[in-house]
Amino acid sequence: QTPVIAIDGPTASGKGTVATLVAAQLGFHLLDSGALYRLAALASLRYEIAPDAADDLAALVGDLHITFREGCAQLDGVDVSNEIRAEEIGNRASAIAVHQAVRAALVARQRAFRKEPGLVADGRDMGTVIFPDAPLKVFLTASVEARAARRYKQLIQKGFSANMDDLLRDLRERDARDSNRAVAPLKPAADAKLLDTSALTIDQAVDQVVQWYQA
Ligand code: C5P
Repeated sequence: QTPVIAIDGPTASGKGTVATLVAAQLGFHLLDSGALYRLAALASLRYEIAPDAADDLAALVGDLHITFREGCAQLDGVDVSNEIRAEEIGNRASAIAVHQAVRAALVARQRAFRKEPGLVADGRDMGTVIFPDAPLKVFLTASVEARAARRYKQLIQKGFSANMDDLLRDLRERDARDSNRAVAPLKPAADAKLLDTSALTIDQAVDQVVQWYQA
């Protein structure tokens, strides 16, 4: 079986950065599953499908024309990598991700990323639902303050405006929704290794994951 490193964790825990660097170091493919939910959220806005219209959303997701090229996410052939990083899109992604029909419509797309020589997959349910047989599962955590500070920096760098109080509130809301939803709630797989990155540099977190994988 092609190896998979599943990296799950709450929003802004550093999953994306760590997953990207681990994949680069090992020469593995990368799946940013959150980007799929964000692309679905963006499409639902464009096609004016309400976040609670589960069946319409699932149909939309089934038909989405998505491509990932050199770190860029495209929707209908147009690069939307920056657009999908907006907080508004993240919140909408979290709202539509509660529907089982939407999640089911994304399963095959996610598993198709598993190719030789290996895959690093980041998200909420990589280790629990999408790749339950992954040889390494990591659950990243970090304090809500550390995560808000990281998200703040990220948004400013991308040219969005940001406010710490709003970010803290958004993160807490998103954590609660992702953790308490009935389907695929955010939780570590039983066999996941926990990594608290609050006091770690990115390189330290990457080294730890690679070391676990090679052990
Ligand atoms: O990781 P990111 O913040 O880009 O994900 C956006 C939202 O998509 C999350 O808040 C979560 O609700 C949802 N998501 C999910 N399952 C995944 C990845 C993301 O439910 N595997």
